[in-house]
Amino acid sequence: MENCIFCKIANGVIPSATIFENDDVRVIMDINPAAKGHAILLVKKHVANIFELDPDTAGRIFSVVPRVAAAIKKVTGCDGLNILQNNGTAAGQTVFHLHIHFIPRFENDKILMGWKPGSYADGEAAEIAAKIAAEIK
Ligand code: 5GP
Ligand code: ZN
Repeated sequence: MENCIFCKIANGVIPSATIFENDDVRVIMDINPAAKGHAILLVKKHVANIFELDPDTAGRIFSVVPRVAAAIKKVTGCDGLNILQNNGTAAGQTVFHLHIHFIPRFENDKILMGWKPGSYADGEAAEIAAKIAAEIK
C-alpha cells in the first residue's frame, strides 16, 4: 500500500526504534504512548484489520505476542499489561493497517480503558451465541 505509514515502517522504508522483527512482523514503540514502554506490533503485509487476516498468519503473528509482553513487563516493571487491537473507527482504530498494542499498566494509573457491564435477557446470550457459532468458518 503506497500511502500507508505502517507499511513503510513495518518494511523498513521509514526507520523506527525496533524491538523485534521477523518475516511477518515488526514491533516498535508507539509514537504517542499511553504509558512508557507502549509498543505496537505491525504486520509486514498490508492487512487493514482483523477481518482481512487469515488464520495461519494470525497464528504466526500471535506467537510473537507473549515474547514481547514478557520483555516489556521485565523492562518497565509494570503490574499488568493490556494487549489491545482496534478494528474500525467505531472501535477506536485510527491507522488502517493491522497492529496490536502492548500497553504497560501500573496499579492506580490514570489510563482509561473499560466499559459499563451490561446484561442479557433470558435466553438472549444463547441465541446470539448460536447465531455466531453458525457463522464460524
Ligand atoms: P489505533 O488507534 O489505530 O489502534 O492506533 C494507532 C497507534 O499508532 C496510536 O497509538 C498512535 O500513537 C500510533 N502511531 C500513529 N502514527 C505513528 C507513527 O508514525 N509512528 C509510530 N511509532 N506510532 C504511530
Ligand atoms: Zn499498510
